[in-house]
Amino acid sequence: MKELWSQRCRGLIPYTPGEQPKGRKLIKLNTNENPYPPSPQALRAIKEAAGEGLRLYPDPECTELREGIALALDVKPEQIFVGNGSDEVLSLAFQAFFDPDKPIRFADITYSFYPVFADFYGLSYREIPLDEHFSLPLAPFLEPGGGVVLANPNAPTGRELDLCDIRSIVAANENSVVVVDEAYVDFGSRSAVELVSLFPNLLVVRTFSKGRSLAGLRVGYAVGDKDLIAGLNAVKNSFNSYPVDRLAQAGALGAIRDQDYFRATATKIISTRACTSGHLRSMGFTVCDSAANFLFVTHETVPAKVLLEGLRQRGILVRWWDKPRISNYLRITVGTDEDMQTLCQALREIIAEQA
Ligand code: PMP
Repeated sequence: MKELWSQRCRGLIPYTPGEQPKGRKLIKLNTNENPYPPSPQALRAIKEAAGEGLRLYPDPECTELREGIALALDVKPEQIFVGNGSDEVLSLAFQAFFDPDKPIRFADITYSFYPVFADFYGLSYREIPLDEHFSLPLAPFLEPGGGVVLANPNAPTGRELDLCDIRSIVAANENSVVVVDEAYVDFGSRSAVELVSLFPNLLVVRTFSKGRSLAGLRVGYAVGDKDLIAGLNAVKNSFNSYPVDRLAQAGALGAIRDQDYFRATATKIISTRACTSGHLRSMGFTVCDSAANFLFVTHETVPAKVLLEGLRQRGILVRWWDKPRISNYLRITVGTDEDMQTLCQALREIIAEQA
């Protein structure tokens, strides 16, 4: 019996204590959380919801929240599905929309959960290699096939795909579903949401974890044609999965209504990203152009593993993968200006020690 679940779970690596540390005060630049607090309006909404009403089950259809999201995105509430983080939404999309016999295509360097979901649900997939600049080759995605999953901007590279290219991919795959994961869209890129009314096979997945500073609430959503949304609801209901809880629905609604705060924090992160990229380049790093709230970097002389350990010893956590092609890269979340000054100072020291 154990063989079955251990085989199915082989790709699942939970966040380690090092990534979600307790105790010692660390600068956490390893899981792309937003360095700024949630909007005051979101916090007020959570406090208001944290009362007598908690006696009652949450609205399984997230009616008010879907209306709030629909208003913000200029779509209809029936085009929105809300789940417990975008990971749950992605997991349901893999279950609902892909044919086990036709490989799903995604990039070979992308969000590591895509192959995990595919393996877990017994789906086949083809990983398309990114080119030497980590750009997505378009041709393999323009052949019709068993569906496509794209992260835009991509993770961990931060590179953005042109909306025209996404449009071409969606149009070329009219008989299968194209999922565009926009977890990091809030930091200056153009969303594919404007295409959902044109293409019934396009599902855009987004989150409140990054741009809205609400990773702790676990709220994500999908935007798409109402038939795709019906598919997600059907899969979710057949497993009787947990609805998003009352506090999370209230907080997310408060956050989506506070566009001014959202714009101000996202703008700040974009300017810190530009400034940090400049400092890192002047220290000998190659920095991938990033449209996300993180930077993907490699140093000309000091190995990434040495930098990772040196930063860890100084109380700064960043992300590294023991994977071909990217094992000499680090992914660094954009924190506050102060966090980034501390990071750059620490990197200067480590590089000097290695000289
Ligand atoms: N997609 C991508 C590309 C991610 O990097 C992440 C999380 N880091 C997610 C989806 C899931 O985010 P969440 O479940 O917090 O919404």
